[in-house]
Amino acid sequence: MEEIKFGPSGNSKWFYDLGYKTSLQAPKWLSSLGLNAYEYSFGRGYTMGEEKAKQLGEQATENNVTISVHAPYFINFANESDEMVEKSYNYVLTGLKMLKLMNGKHLVFHPASQGKLTRERALELTRQRLKILAKKVYENGFEDMFLCPETMGKTLQIGTYKEIVDLCTIDKIFVPTFDFGHIYSLNLGNFGSYEDYKEVFTYALEKLGERAKSCHIHFSQIQFGAKGEIKHLDFGNGEYGPYFEPLARVIKELDLTPTIICESHSNMTKDALYMKEIYEKI
Ligand SMILES: [Zn+2]
Ligand SMILES: [Zn+2]
Repeated sequence: MEEIKFGPSGNSKWFYDLGYKTSLQAPKWLSSLGLNAYEYSFGRGYTMGEEKAKQLGEQATENNVTISVHAPYFINFANESDEMVEKSYNYVLTGLKMLKLMNGKHLVFHPASQGKLTRERALELTRQRLKILAKKVYENGFEDMFLCPETMGKTLQIGTYKEIVDLCTIDKIFVPTFDFGHIYSLNLGNFGSYEDYKEVFTYALEKLGERAKSCHIHFSQIQFGAKGEIKHLDFGNGEYGPYFEPLARVIKELDLTPTIICESHSNMTKDALYMKEIYEKI
């Protein structure tokens, strides 16, 4: 039986203020706070060794914390060059190998950038490449994990919520990452009501069925400009949203069991706890 999970992306300021030094200490600490998810980012590349990944996995299992990983930002499945796209496949496959060592289930990735292509062409390329990627995932025996393309915050990135859900129809190994801060900034702040959240999940449930219930979620408040996302902020910044309360109501009402990762600027652990509290009060 799936259950809803809350946790931070990476180590917060609080973690270091308490004197903790390495991510291996994170699962036990998070568990003591009542959190049960932790996202490890390989955004800038794979710098962690396999031995450490395994140790982190052991810590996570021991403390009932589910690990997810974020694949490198360099991935681009809409690159016209097949040779360049090979690198993107490998970034995902390496990420799955690390995720498996960490006993985790979800790998988050940014699918593509439109660049100079038309939106249509970029989407078509991305779709073709994700089909090939799915094949490689099965060939490598990684199909027990989920690949989670993320909704993006800038206009030239592939990743509106509909694009992401549609890409996830390719195969059951794909599950959306709904980054609601990104959706909010892409819509220049015109997103975040109960109805808005409900519309996203209604669409996802219609296209993906039950699989959409255990989706991955990123949540943070984000500063935006004309082209979308500028900067992740902490809760209580006073100026930018979105807000978690209406989302919590939709999650309860639709009986969803997502993993909710807080991507606040530096208070991600406190903000994850705050979201959990809001959810439990409903
Ligand atoms: Zn991301
Ligand atoms: Zn995100």
